[in-house]
Amino acid sequence: MGQDKVRVRFAPSPTGNLHIGTLRTALFNWLYARHFQGVFVLRLEDTDLKRSQEDYEKNIYDGLNWLGLVPDEGPLVGGEFGPYRQSERIQQGCYMAKAKVLLEQGLAYYCFDTEAELDQERDAAKEKGVPYVYSRRALDLSNAEVQAKLDQGEAYTIRFKTPDSGALSFRDLVRGEISFDLALLSDFVIMKSDGSPSYNFAVVVDDVDMDITHVIRGEDHVSNMPKQLLLYKVLGGQVPEFGHLPMILGPDRAKLSKRHGATAVLAYRDEGIVSDALFNFLSLLGWRPNSEEEILSRAELEAQFALERVSKSNAIFDQQKLKWMNGQYIRRFSPEQLYEALFPFMSDQHQANMQARPDHQRRLIMTAIQDNVAYLSEVDQYLSVFCLSEEAVDVKVQALSFSEQDQQVLLQFYGLVQEMSASADEADFLACLETLVTRLELGKGKIFKPIRLAVTGDGKGPNIAQLLAVLGPSCLKRRLARLSFLDSVPHLAS
Ligand code: GLU
Repeated sequence: MGQDKVRVRFAPSPTGNLHIGTLRTALFNWLYARHFQGVFVLRLEDTDLKRSQEDYEKNIYDGLNWLGLVPDEGPLVGGEFGPYRQSERIQQGCYMAKAKVLLEQGLAYYCFDTEAELDQERDAAKEKGVPYVYSRRALDLSNAEVQAKLDQGEAYTIRFKTPDSGALSFRDLVRGEISFDLALLSDFVIMKSDGSPSYNFAVVVDDVDMDITHVIRGEDHVSNMPKQLLLYKVLGGQVPEFGHLPMILGPDRAKLSKRHGATAVLAYRDEGIVSDALFNFLSLLGWRPNSEEEILSRAELEAQFALERVSKSNAIFDQQKLKWMNGQYIRRFSPEQLYEALFPFMSDQHQANMQARPDHQRRLIMTAIQDNVAYLSEVDQYLSVFCLSEEAVDVKVQALSFSEQDQQVLLQFYGLVQEMSASADEADFLACLETLVTRLELGKGKIFKPIRLAVTGDGKGPNIAQLLAVLGPSCLKRRLARLSFLDSVPHLAS
């Protein structure tokens, strides 16, 4: 005990898929550990065996891996404080051993009351309109009576004996001084009748055994603090520092739920959120950097992170901001990085099409669609314009009609394209489009739109000069030649 190294733990219960709020807790622990060159421990609180499932455990690993929050110690990687699954710690008798010490010290006692008896007590308190506090009837049993019941195999729980009065306080690193009145604290169960520890007991035993120095978790755990503080004191460990994080709410200020969009972390991965973007976005949920700049790299976040700038007020989860931030990260990719990020999201057909192209064309396509893509999963809709078959384009274009002005634009464009070399690039097309703007004295939109329509069939799409450069002069000539009206458009006098 008593080491200086920061040791934090992320302690999810694998009773559901990893969700955004839980991941934010993991991230803040991670950032805190990295800031202080400390250790990030993953502990699985799977005491609720009925609800804990292997799939959920895997979901936690997948979500953490995706965000790059790989534990320094945990069930998979191991470590000197293991095992890191509470179910395995139950089997090793970790909790029962500690409970027995408390029994011997007279700080805890066996309780053989049945559920029905306890319900009666609760109902009586309710009728009187007073908060329920366990009557300590179990303490009336003599040692011999307790032993007899144990020998008969009667079911029991073990309760912790709480002080009858007084107050308990601690200084939360986020919320400041918090104190609790102990008079209303009931003697609580530390070991349940099935031999598993209660949440509060297991957490404290583990935090002590694992030398945890800082507990960073959701504000919903503040109410557990009196029980946990009492236990830390008697279990002999150094009481860790605590930082309780604000809750995450939807824009309507209601608790974050499916109504506000996906809450499962991997849904964001599958939708095409960039891991670095989610990392950055989550870091701002309840914490503020020391400047106005919101786009911060992992290294910058690790360097800046401090619990002092964690907010006391609730954080708002804004999907639109996440979308915007994702776009910011996508815009910063090199063409090669963008291709690598987008490739898994492409249809088989688009993957094959892209793989068949020379490097410079792939890069150009990536540059052309870079500003459009908000989610990586949208890639197909932006690639299709480059990959449509001639027949498909023809069907779309033949269904369109072009005004006289459009026809004039297209005729002039056709003329310029015919003069272009086969290796014309983006700069050549930019020059070509500018020539048209000057020559026809029309706004850019009036020039670009009919050209885009005539060569793709779509009115909107990627950057026009890049698009034309990817299609190339010979494809453009072929497509324009199919516009029968071009033969009859009167040529402008030049
Ligand atoms: N297992 C608890 C939860 O998932 C966390 C316990 C803790 O951080 O103390 O909410």
